Amino acid sequence: MNIEVAGKKVLVRVDFNVPIDKQKRITDDTRMRKALPTLQYILDQGGALILMSHLGRPLKKLKEDGSINVEKFTLRLIIKHLSNLLERPVKFASSCVGDEANRLSSSLQPGEVLLLENTRFHEGEEAGDVAFAKELSSIADIYVNDAFGTAHRAHASTTVVAQFFDASQKSFGFLMESEVSNGSKVLNDPQRPLVAITGGAKVSDKLLLLERLIDFADTVIIGGGMAYTFFKAQGGSIGKSICEHNKLDLALDLMKKAKEKGTTLLLPVDNIAADDFSNDANRQTVDSMNIPDGWEGLDIGPKSIDAFVAAIKSAKTIIWNGPMGVFEFDNFATGTNSVAKAVADATAAGAFSLIGGGDSVAAIKKNGLDDEVSFVSTGGGAMLEFLEGKELPGIKAITG
Ligand code: AMP
Repeated sequence: MNIEVAGKKVLVRVDFNVPIDKQKRITDDTRMRKALPTLQYILDQGGALILMSHLGRPLKKLKEDGSINVEKFTLRLIIKHLSNLLERPVKFASSCVGDEANRLSSSLQPGEVLLLENTRFHEGEEAGDVAFAKELSSIADIYVNDAFGTAHRAHASTTVVAQFFDASQKSFGFLMESEVSNGSKVLNDPQRPLVAITGGAKVSDKLLLLERLIDFADTVIIGGGMAYTFFKAQGGSIGKSICEHNKLDLALDLMKKAKEKGTTLLLPVDNIAADDFSNDANRQTVDSMNIPDGWEGLDIGPKSIDAFVAAIKSAKTIIWNGPMGVFEFDNFATGTNSVAKAVADATAAGAFSLIGGGDSVAAIKKNGLDDEVSFVSTGGGAMLEFLEGKELPGIKAITG
């Protein structure tokens, strides 16, 4: 971020979409804390901060009479905490555009902070409306985007607004910068071997990711619910395990592509099966291709863990996206926990590890290992699309 911000009004798109409970308390302020280096830097340099963010999806969850549930989705809920974090008062405009926002911003002094109300209270936000974006831009001299979590959306405040600032007057914030540089590092210039670990519920959600990884990783590990579609496709019996029956050909196709490319595909060879989808279900270790009727695989088994851990420990670069099983149930979290530990061990031995968003981030945190991996992404869907090789609109809007 090398823009001269002293004496300037800096409009920063942050991701303050924090979880808030029924008592209107913030239950996890990670996203706010992650934005602090950028915000503190601008304040320290003598800039005035105008912050904009979304919170939830208010227009998707209208009240029965069609009105917005302002009390639930207002960014007023975070003012006090933001003020504590920044150690100064935070002014608030009850609409992100219009007279009040204009008035408050025009009188804003260096070192002061103005928070704008939820951008998604306006239809123009998610529609990427140009006139709305222009209005947002009109109250500031500089635009900074530090909201990586929404960089895959071509919304007004994340993307369209940038066109109203000269190239020299817009920039990524530090968080966005580090997401982009760490993501680029594994995509463009990875040290090899590169081992990608994929998991999660469905093949269809990770299809593009799998295709891309098979193209450029040395080893692709497939765990979690996705793996059962691969067992079934190869003629295995999978009991009542999760499976996408319309993706069997696709699974075979991916295996074929891996073979042609010379990419090692590592699937589980054993699983922990349950007789019920619950933590307290009866359990047994089964051969992945022979899961008994009435049983479903909810975790990878000990032989698979050994094989996956060995592959991970041989890596110089690691990408991890998706759990190895239903890790929310402690009795089926061993596979995911073992992978988390192996990624941390490999990192300690010199590998570069990127945890690519969503549930793998939750798993790393649950194991207390988030400081022992190289980079934990804040953007679930955004990092997934980045790793799939897509051009994210929020990034392109800044880099041109
Ligand atoms: P995703 O959001 O696609 O990364 O999927 C994560 C979800 O997949 C988690 O909530 C897991 O509980 C779920 N999952 C992982 N393995 C299985 C499995 N074997 N059966 C059912 N769900 C699974």
